Amino acid sequence: MKYLNDFLITGGTGMVGKSFLDKLPNAIYISSKQYDLRDPVQTNNMFEEYRPRFVIHLAARVGGVLANMNNLGSFYYDNVMINTNVLESARIFETEKLLSCLSTCIYPDKVTYPLTEDQIHNGTPHQSNFSYAYTKRMIEIQSKAYKAQYGCNFISMAPNNLFGQFDNFSLEGSHVIPAMIRKIYEAKLNNTRAEFWGDGTPLREFTYSKDIPDVSLFLLEKYDSPDVINVGNSHEVSIEYVVSKVQEYFDFDGEIFWDTTKPMGQFRKPSSNEKLLDLGWKAEDYTSMEKGLKETCEWFIINYPNIRGMNG
Ligand code: NDP
Repeated sequence: MKYLNDFLITGGTGMVGKSFLDKLPNAIYISSKQYDLRDPVQTNNMFEEYRPRFVIHLAARVGGVLANMNNLGSFYYDNVMINTNVLESARIFETEKLLSCLSTCIYPDKVTYPLTEDQIHNGTPHQSNFSYAYTKRMIEIQSKAYKAQYGCNFISMAPNNLFGQFDNFSLEGSHVIPAMIRKIYEAKLNNTRAEFWGDGTPLREFTYSKDIPDVSLFLLEKYDSPDVINVGNSHEVSIEYVVSKVQEYFDFDGEIFWDTTKPMGQFRKPSSNEKLLDLGWKAEDYTSMEKGLKETCEWFIINYPNIRGMNG
């Protein structure tokens, strides 16, 4: 196969995709406006045009709990089509290596912590995002099947919670950190209190999106198995601590109200990075949550209100 480009990144216009721009300035960054990857013909056309040696497959319909719960059917259709088409076209066009992005939120609801890769198919995902989760799990299955039958070198990583610049800051559709940043910033602007669900004690792991390019290139170099591998900063912090940091970066001295009548989710959901560390990655290679959060808050101030998700 004659390759025309080294790297093609699906989902190149998303939060994670944009974080590759510094590291891979010459890569091809794909938006859904150029190619709707739910369509096999458009997906093939994309591969025909760019003929990439390496593909980093990030494109997905992504959202927080509410967005997932309200769109179980369309999240299923969009994601299962995108993933099936991208891997099939990569096979046809003999992509040398393809890295897909799964997520630790697709692990079974009832699982033994920390999340280890061998448990990923051991039970049903949480009911709030089961359709997204099953489509992501099928990437691993498709990669294994394609390795067995065609010898394709398709690998997949499962990051924990990601945050960063270019995130979706919609209050309805977003994840924990972007919602937190927006609520506190707007509480400061409007001189109101910032409200959060629960009591702030649950612990979570957060990874800065700008770490994903480094870990992706590391895996493309060092990892050749279709078995999923966890990635992400596994240092746990409480939700209350993250709120206190955002408060500090925005210099917000108004009231933080914890609504303890609302659900707060599981106390901990730690993931294991052992497999990645065994390959030579170092825990210190991740950016600290504090540094990533500070940079994200600074970016938010500069770009507000022209930020994705502001209408929702
Ligand atoms: P974003 O929502 O920011 O970006 C999604 C990307 O997918 C966009 O570039 C979008 O293109 C593209 N896309 C969506 N639908 C289509 C389509 N039909 N055809 C072509 N492209 C499409 O997501 P993130 O950057 O946050 O996520 C990237 C990956 O990381 C995803 O696979 C996600 O599952 C995974 N992940 C994310 C986590 C997080 O906390 N955000 C955690 C763990 C994993 P366009 O903008 O042009 O429509």
